[in-house]
Amino acid sequence: MAEKFDVIVIGGGPGGYVAAIRAAQLGLKTACIDSYSGKDGKASPGGTCLNVGCIPSKALLDSSKHFHHVQHEYAAHGIHVKEAAIDVPTMLARKDGVVKKLTAGVTQLLKGNKVTFYHGTGTLAGSRQVTVSPVDGGTALQLSANNVILASGSVPIEIPNVAFDGEYIVDNVGALDFDHAPKTLGVIGAGVIGLELGSVWNRLGSEVTLLEALPDFLALADRDIAKLAEREFKKQGLDIRLSTRVKQAAVKKKKVVVTIETADGESELSFDRLLVSVGRKPYTEGLLADDSGVRLTERGQIEVDEQSRTSAPGVWAIGDCVRGPMLAHKASEEGVAVAELIAGKPAHIHFETVPWVVYTDPEIAWVGRTEKELKDAGIEYRSGTFPFAANGRALAGGQGAGLVKIMADSETDEILGVHIFGANASELIAECVVAMEFQGSSEDLARIVHAHPTLSEAVHEAAMHVDRRAIHRGN
Ligand code: FAD
Ligand code: AMP
Repeated sequence: MAEKFDVIVIGGGPGGYVAAIRAAQLGLKTACIDSYSGKDGKASPGGTCLNVGCIPSKALLDSSKHFHHVQHEYAAHGIHVKEAAIDVPTMLARKDGVVKKLTAGVTQLLKGNKVTFYHGTGTLAGSRQVTVSPVDGGTALQLSANNVILASGSVPIEIPNVAFDGEYIVDNVGALDFDHAPKTLGVIGAGVIGLELGSVWNRLGSEVTLLEALPDFLALADRDIAKLAEREFKKQGLDIRLSTRVKQAAVKKKKVVVTIETADGESELSFDRLLVSVGRKPYTEGLLADDSGVRLTERGQIEVDEQSRTSAPGVWAIGDCVRGPMLAHKASEEGVAVAELIAGKPAHIHFETVPWVVYTDPEIAWVGRTEKELKDAGIEYRSGTFPFAANGRALAGGQGAGLVKIMADSETDEILGVHIFGANASELIAECVVAMEFQGSSEDLARIVHAHPTLSEAVHEAAMHVDRRAIHRGN
């Protein structure tokens, strides 16, 4: 007999494990099935985010930033360090330690909340019957539930004629584990992942070239911010080539030879390693039996309505395998919302206030609409900016690059978009998300007391600048 649950979650990433914990908190008998295995071959819940995404990339960004600062920033403070060296295996071991701690933490949280965890692949059939095929090859188990949440995540997109080989041509997994800084690193796609991992190896000494098919740098970001960021990253040594489409890549004599197409025609470039980071696609392999009743979209996403219901009754889907931005916090919020809907509570996600962050140095963060989106929609707005170069805390910390830009409705003054390029932008954006969630105005932000000296004063001053009454800049 199939063991019966109130809720079965398939996938244990930030979407799935969060949904499972919230469902259990709400008193529902919950199971979570995840197939990911850590480097030790054991279960490692946390999905892409904890194992090979958000967390390990941030660990390496932090290590490489220290190395960069020792070499390039300390002298200005009067600190002289002779012959700084990077021990890449130690750096990777530290990163692996962080991952291990967090994935073990998720295991504990699932246990603490009485979620039954299965290390295996879950396959959904009709009437919410789920088969678990254990990773260790043990006998398959049959489960069933009143509700099933699909949270199977995403995998890297592979481009034609550029096959991953795990050594020379790699995806994020490989680029998080290079055992030394390659002398030259090519990166296909100057998106979020390409910029973050390109920055890591650039700081550790690699010559990094980013090959981007689109003519615009960071096409999703606000143009003012993207332009500033492009200039700053080029200064840091990243060779960013726009309107450059990669046609193919092949390993020849321990080098990756890449064929690119630009306005000047086709040519070849050669690198020691190549990172392919051209985006991710939903992962649904082995997830759905023929009779599951779950429909996919043309793009391979699981089709869902606004509240994450699929085409099969009692089956929900969240995170990277459905529409919307592929961001961990979006997946988690959907997980919480679905668990609450299942428990009969109201839940709603405001997709328009999901913040975006790129963890470069300085960081890029935004929420709401870009200037181009406002113009295209014919919305009248006023805009205020404030440069970090005029912020005391930023200067004291050697972080004077970048700016805050706020746009507010001309008539109502409601904040419509905030775009930040600067130190700690990932944290500064939170205040702006709260303001937008409360339909706050630029005047609201301008009238709130901000501690001095803090980077958040730049947000304050940008809000005041919307009304041309900033104190520490010309209006
Ligand atoms: P996933 O995290 O992909 O988890 C899905 C899980 O389900 C996996 O463990 C998978 O093995 C398992 N699974 C799949 N199918 C089955 C099945 N049939 N049975 C059992 N288990 C199954 N986002 C941010 O918000 N901030 C960042 O800083 C950030 N940095 C990133 C850096 C990199 C290098 C990468 C690659 C991604 C980054 N992301 C970041 C994106 C983020 O990782 C994803 O948006 C997030 O992990 C999506 O969560 P999810 O739960 O939908 O899927
Ligand atoms: P992201 O989705 O943020 O990871 O960004 C992926 C980037 O890769 C996008 O900016 C795409 O334009 C870019 N891209 C996709 N295919 C190619 C290609 N063949 N050559 C160069 N860039 C590409």
